[in-house]
Amino acid sequence: MKHLDTESGIGPSNLVDHGVLERLKAIVGDEFVLSRDDQRDRYSNCTVPWHHRCAAVVFPGTREEIVGIVRLAMEVGVPIWPFSTGRNWGYGASLACENDAIIMIMERMNRVLEVNEELAYAVIEPGVTYQQLSDHLRNKGFKLWADCIDGTPHGSVIGNALERGVGETPYGDHFGNLCGLEVVLPNGEVVLVGATSEDQRTWHTHKWGLGPSLDGLFSQSNFGIVTRAGIWLMPEPEAYCSYVFEITDQSSVPAVLDAFRWLALHGVATSKLHMINDFVSMTVLTQRQDEAVSQKGRLLPAELDTLRRKYRVAPWSCGGGLYGTREQVAVQRRLLRRKLSRYGRLIFLTDTRVAMIESFIGLARGHRWLLPFIHVLFRTSLPVLELAPHAHRVLKGIPTEYFVRHAYYRNAVARPDENVDPARDRCGLIWFAPILPLSGFEVMEYLATAKAAFERHEFDFYVALLMMNPRSVIALMAIIYKRDDPEEVARAERLYAQLLEDMRGARLQQYRAGVGAWGEIHSGSPALRNLNLRIKRALDPRNILAPGRYGI
Ligand code: ADP
Repeated sequence: MKHLDTESGIGPSNLVDHGVLERLKAIVGDEFVLSRDDQRDRYSNCTVPWHHRCAAVVFPGTREEIVGIVRLAMEVGVPIWPFSTGRNWGYGASLACENDAIIMIMERMNRVLEVNEELAYAVIEPGVTYQQLSDHLRNKGFKLWADCIDGTPHGSVIGNALERGVGETPYGDHFGNLCGLEVVLPNGEVVLVGATSEDQRTWHTHKWGLGPSLDGLFSQSNFGIVTRAGIWLMPEPEAYCSYVFEITDQSSVPAVLDAFRWLALHGVATSKLHMINDFVSMTVLTQRQDEAVSQKGRLLPAELDTLRRKYRVAPWSCGGGLYGTREQVAVQRRLLRRKLSRYGRLIFLTDTRVAMIESFIGLARGHRWLLPFIHVLFRTSLPVLELAPHAHRVLKGIPTEYFVRHAYYRNAVARPDENVDPARDRCGLIWFAPILPLSGFEVMEYLATAKAAFERHEFDFYVALLMMNPRSVIALMAIIYKRDDPEEVARAERLYAQLLEDMRGARLQQYRAGVGAWGEIHSGSPALRNLNLRIKRALDPRNILAPGRYGI
């Protein structure tokens, strides 16, 4: 067979001419190769402004089929972009960074292969979603909790971990909690990382194996396709409660951050603390079109103030979970109170209290006259009260679509309650996620620059601070824009470019980068770029696996 020339672009018609589609169908079955225009469009769609159109989409059902696909790709020189479920909205979803690639989605490979309750881990395939793993553990009566994200329940546990995504519980460092990988290399070879054979008894309990630790090669990269992984789980704790902490005075934010660093370094705050500004709360609680505020540009300070009062939202709100024995949780609650109470209102939510809140909400919906009592009894609004059970459950590993609805904030149609899909519904959302040293002063200094950039480009400043570990915090920002308004799209792109420039100037980098930032990742470090390129050439000499991903 004649080799295709990747430089000149392969194109869907060339795939047909060269018999690639037919050969893909022979590997996975006819119904698992999509190449109609509408199907190609559906998988070339994300909430970000940078789009490339794929040539076809293939859905392998087994590791052997993946081996067949990469061998074919290597033979003919066609690029393959692997995704587990492809719902990485705001960063790129199932987008390649070139036209005419073949998108490979592993959602059919969705078996939970093993759960070891005693050693608290599971072994799963890439198509296993947060919802599926959580249901599996609960329905089968395992006393184990899997961490999840506050994003879509239909995202892949392995996909997010390989992206080094963060979750909610003490197991929220998702890549840190992967242990033992099975990988298909671009030449079709299968390797086990962390063990020399499948039956090695510590493959999923001892992360480092023996010799160089290679796991990292397969995360945020394009060196291989992970077809199976071990994931550590949290033993169901004897006691659990979530907390909400509302910071009433903006000037206390640096002190609160320093307090959380102390709490984390001393093992008290072990969950992934979320600290969100008022605008983040608004995107979850409402849509811009439903409020009596200006509909263009950003909200005026007075408008944000009015919304804050309407919904009874503090300038900054924090949430997290406490886990352990009853004694441990009691001590954590005491220490949290001691360190935080002076800066705002701290509320603890147990399962019992959440059940009570839900009954009250049900009652208030049927008897509207009860609504004013919410303000008195709970000192908040009905929408905030409705949010609390979702946050409480996410913090125990039960995923929800509730928070993904924030992507619809600027949309002209009402957001769905279920089957939430921001890419399908043409939401405009770009994530920008620099990671900072966890020091109140340093965080505030950086946020001031970022906020100024948002304001200069007429966007509302959306920032959530996510404690990655006791020493670092992610400043997760969203540019939420109208995707069908070319002027806003251009403005969103300009803001993104500005944020990248300011971040580099501040000697920072993102913890995870979307398709719009890959070109710049190595700009300050030719030596690192060369090292990555040398590894890439050795593993993938024809550059068929996701070429350009993470700048490699
Ligand atoms: P999710 O749907 O959970 O957000 P994705 O499936 O989109 O996650 O995966 C996130 C990123 O990780 C993708 O951009 C993809 O390139 C990479 N990735 C996902 N699954 C694999 C895998 N099994 N092997 C290698 N890389 C993967």
